[in-house]
Amino acid sequence: MDCLKRWLLPLYYYGTWPIRLWYGHRLACRGCCPIGVVVFHRIADDKATPWTCSTEVFRRQIQWLRRRFELISLAEVQRRLRHKQSFRPAVHITFDDGYADNGRFALPWLLEQKIPCTYFVSVEQLQTGSSFPHDRAIGRFFPVHQPEELRQFAQAGLEIGCHSYSHRDLGPVTDPAILKKEILHARWELEQILDKPVRYFAFPFGQPENLNQQAFWWVQQAGYDAACSAYGAYNFPGQDWFHIRRIPADGWLLRLKHHLLFDPRRLSDSVSYGGLKLELSEQAKLPLGGQLHGPSSAKSI
Ligand SMILES: [Zn+2]
Repeated sequence: MDCLKRWLLPLYYYGTWPIRLWYGHRLACRGCCPIGVVVFHRIADDKATPWTCSTEVFRRQIQWLRRRFELISLAEVQRRLRHKQSFRPAVHITFDDGYADNGRFALPWLLEQKIPCTYFVSVEQLQTGSSFPHDRAIGRFFPVHQPEELRQFAQAGLEIGCHSYSHRDLGPVTDPAILKKEILHARWELEQILDKPVRYFAFPFGQPENLNQQAFWWVQQAGYDAACSAYGAYNFPGQDWFHIRRIPADGWLLRLKHHLLFDPRRLSDSVSYGGLKLELSEQAKLPLGGQLHGPSSAKSI
């Protein structure tokens, strides 16, 4: 199947290129360019997994992003959504989980180039040094950052966000005690480790089934500025600016291009969670077939 996609995606991408160009131009003229927020996980040249990207491909992806987009902070993403204006294509870069391998190349390189980045870590793994269950399930035991190393990155300007306490799937969780620990206590503990405010939360796995309305309520009550999902949707000006939708990135540059340059299938977001319907603003709706886009086929962790 993956092999088939490798053949079909270039055909689809270049076949829809004129529509993408037209759509991008029209959105820019109207000041409602969608803002892409991408999520990486592990940048390393060994022990490849579906959530690992090689350093060379990562470098090429970031260089392509720099040429095509304004690279902005998460606070700026929210400001543009709130003010309902986005005249230039823009992207924000995030990471999930907190793999120590990212400290070798990706993070120093991004900091050196002053590229804004939000780095989400899970508190229990940070405190105990244990590997993630999704890695152990495939026989990998990737190390996570040491608290002191993460503190140094935070002091160097990296925005650290919270990726829950234990990286459990919060979608089916309604027990307030668990949500409080995973969302509120996790923030307190991470702030103590970093000695800095933690402003953003990212749901583990980030697909629609991993979100729920009670959990969003707890993210707001805990004082976070935003809650991030990762089911592959755009952020349109005028949309809810508290819920930041992210697009999973992997080790294939063409897929990143396809995701970020106005994929016609992503022009509306029909995902709802906990009875709360998420819809595009009227301003962002444009006549391009009106297809409803479901959850992304790209998985995040
Ligand atoms: Zn994760």
